[in-house]
Amino acid sequence: MLNIALFGPPGAGKGTQAKKIVEKYNLAHLSTGDMIRKEIADGTELGRMAEGIINRGELLSDEFVVALIENRIAHLKDVDGFLFDGFPRTVAQAEKLDQMLSKSGTPLNGLISIDVPHDELMRRMLQRAKIEGRADDNEEVIENRFREYRAKTLPVADHYKAQGKCFDVDGFGSVDDVFATIATILESIK
Ligand code: AMP
Repeated sequence: MLNIALFGPPGAGKGTQAKKIVEKYNLAHLSTGDMIRKEIADGTELGRMAEGIINRGELLSDEFVVALIENRIAHLKDVDGFLFDGFPRTVAQAEKLDQMLSKSGTPLNGLISIDVPHDELMRRMLQRAKIEGRADDNEEVIENRFREYRAKTLPVADHYKAQGKCFDVDGFGSVDDVFATIATILESIK
């Protein structure tokens, strides 16, 4: 099993890299953002609970996202590992993930931390807003998402640094260059 978490600020390119990684390594792609957007699109009770929070750029509760992940993992078969994308986003989520994976005897191999300068992140997010029309991609909400990231999510990198499992990647290059860097890291830790 190869268990990887993709980490980085909004707009770092996690979703784009995730698609390439899961294809090459036959991993299950577990994006909590995608799962939540699907609940909202399907009009489920969970979706109704999440909609206001996601549209303000705030984080959902740890219990909510951990339940989503646990439920999804329980139904997955025939994969060579998991790629967590946008999860864990708090230290409490990271601790819960560590517990879950160590129970199944397949701990996280590494956290891939993609970083990009702030101006470039903002440019990418505003560009994506024009193309995808995501409700949480306008300037005010984007700023809120960065605030949440700095306050609650950045400490997750320290949590994995302390375990010697955090790998930094410069995300300012082309999609293929960034992927090549990530693939080199994955080859060395799988
Ligand atoms: P993303 O698509 O990963 O940028 O996530 C979009 C939004 O979904 C975030 O701004 C949060 O509101 C919510 N979300 C996604 N993943 C998580 C998580 N692990 N914990 C809390 N909220 C999350």
